[in-house]
Amino acid sequence: MTEPHSHEAEPPLLRDLHTHSSASDGTLSPAELIEAAAARGISLLSLTDHDTVAGLSEAAAAAAAFPLTLVPGVEVSVTWQGRLLHVLGLAIDPECRKLLQGLELHRAARERRAEAIGRKLERQGIAGAGAQARTLAGTGMVTRTHFARALLEHGAVGSLDEAFKRFLGRGKPAWVGVQWSALDDVVGWIRESGGVAVLAHPLRYRMTGAWMRRLLLAFREAGGRGIEVVAGQTTPSEIKLLAGYALRYGLCGSVGSDYHGPENPWSSFGRPLLLPPRVEPVWTSWDAPPSVPLPGPPL
Ligand code: AMP
Ligand code: MN
Ligand code: MN
Ligand code: MN
Repeated sequence: MTEPHSHEAEPPLLRDLHTHSSASDGTLSPAELIEAAAARGISLLSLTDHDTVAGLSEAAAAAAAFPLTLVPGVEVSVTWQGRLLHVLGLAIDPECRKLLQGLELHRAARERRAEAIGRKLERQGIAGAGAQARTLAGTGMVTRTHFARALLEHGAVGSLDEAFKRFLGRGKPAWVGVQWSALDDVVGWIRESGGVAVLAHPLRYRMTGAWMRRLLLAFREAGGRGIEVVAGQTTPSEIKLLAGYALRYGLCGSVGSDYHGPENPWSSFGRPLLLPPRVEPVWTSWDAPPSVPLPGPPL
């Protein structure tokens, strides 16, 4: 993708390649997300819901009304060396069978996990949270965020963060571990669908330098192409560290706010997320993102 050399007065193009809708744990519908992005002047946006592409056709239909290019995406949960990772698939073909089959395994695992979390919360004396989380998720992917919202509505906690710290986080009373798909498999599905695999928020895994090195080598070996260098809350020193990783391991850089909705006013959604100039932007990996099939006429 070429970019016109801008006059100094021109603001930078706003790009955001990591966002969520109500198809997973975002609070805006896909169409509302697109409207919000367009209103903020974002011109390149990827919808990357957790383990689902179900929001993409509604997003594509909404994007047609704005000067906004939608990059079809997904954020896939991965288990690697016993750790949970998130891998973004960008510029994927959302109709790719192999990808859809993989995501279906994750949907089923999420449903089973939701029931198990509900039972554990009941044992903690919190009845009905499982059903409430399922209701809040609607037809979308059920996530721990929905449990956190259910616990908040129930009055069991005062904030989403408290819900994770007291109940839903690893090792807490309602923690249910899931063996997600392997790194090689997930990167394989993304590549099979014509997409580009990007390691999401590398610093959130709290790895030592040695583990980060192992991970980045394994990710590249698996066919991964990029890492997120500028994310929601990354500081300048973190951006420098991540840019260094991208250069050292031959990976592109991506930018994304990880927006989940307007209730997070501190979110960087709509702010310029600027990649350091030496890092190759991941969005040069695709010429034009594959088009997303629009929803058919109502039956
Ligand atoms: P899941 O993929 O179902 O295990 O849910 C993980 C999601 O929970 C993440 O994508 C975040 O959106 C959310 N999450 C994780 N930790 C926290 C936290 N401390 N506060 C609020 N949301 C969180
Ligand atoms: Mn989330
Ligand atoms: Mn994530
Ligand atoms: Mn995310």
